[in-house]
Amino acid sequence: MSDTDKIKVTILPTGMMHADLVWLLIDPSRMATYQQPRKERDWVEVPTHVVFLEHPNGQKLVWDSGVPRDWETRWEPSGLGKFFPVDAAAEEDWLDSRLKQLKTEPNDIDYLVLSHLHMDHAANAKFWERTDTQIIVDEKEKEGAFSFDGHNKGAHIKSDYDTLQLDTIGQDTELMPGVTILQTPGHTWGTLSLQVDLADAGTMIFASDSLYLKESYGPPPIAAGIVYDTVAWFESVEKIRGIQERTGGQVIFGHDANQIKELRTGPGNYYT
Ligand SMILES: [Zn+2]
Repeated sequence: MSDTDKIKVTILPTGMMHADLVWLLIDPSRMATYQQPRKERDWVEVPTHVVFLEHPNGQKLVWDSGVPRDWETRWEPSGLGKFFPVDAAAEEDWLDSRLKQLKTEPNDIDYLVLSHLHMDHAANAKFWERTDTQIIVDEKEKEGAFSFDGHNKGAHIKSDYDTLQLDTIGQDTELMPGVTILQTPGHTWGTLSLQVDLADAGTMIFASDSLYLKESYGPPPIAAGIVYDTVAWFESVEKIRGIQERTGGQVIFGHDANQIKELRTGPGNYYT
């Protein structure tokens, strides 16, 4: 079996944010206490990534779309820029740079799958406006993302996705052999994960914001910040764990600064 007969997965860092850790991890051991009421905050690196997948059937998929170049202006009205500045992105990181490095363009992509529609995942989805690419989100995510009036609701910024043709899934869906979209709600109304069964690297489960950090995974899991449905979030973590244990696979966390350094990343450094 040569590499052209195998699924190829390229993980692309798409810009580093910083944020207070409490957005990501509700960890009692780092919280203020009676004895230490003024405990320091943890200001941490919050990397973002997208996944570029090439299937032996000839189809290409992009998972998530990263953060926007114009985050300072785009995130000003919502105030999100002060909490999640993209203050450590290199020129090579932005999604448009990444696509160029891959010598591909939006219209070459068959599927854009968005784990959810938050501003650090859907920001560049409009690169795919007026293309033939099928854009896929969870049906409950779409419902929620259009359920409010005004500019944004939390980290959902309507102008990121409002004019796009969004197709939806309502159950776990094998999109291509070895490539399965998993429903893992809780972080938002309809957060998705992506399971890829690779010939050499084994199963990789891209959890996106269903699991930001390895620290959160456990067992036992430590609750994450920004969770719309806590019970569903814990259930989704155990769903991911079940698949990970059954397949002997690896979970790729959504915003884990330590893990991303250990992974093979960038154009040419793919997994098969
Ligand atoms: Zn995120």
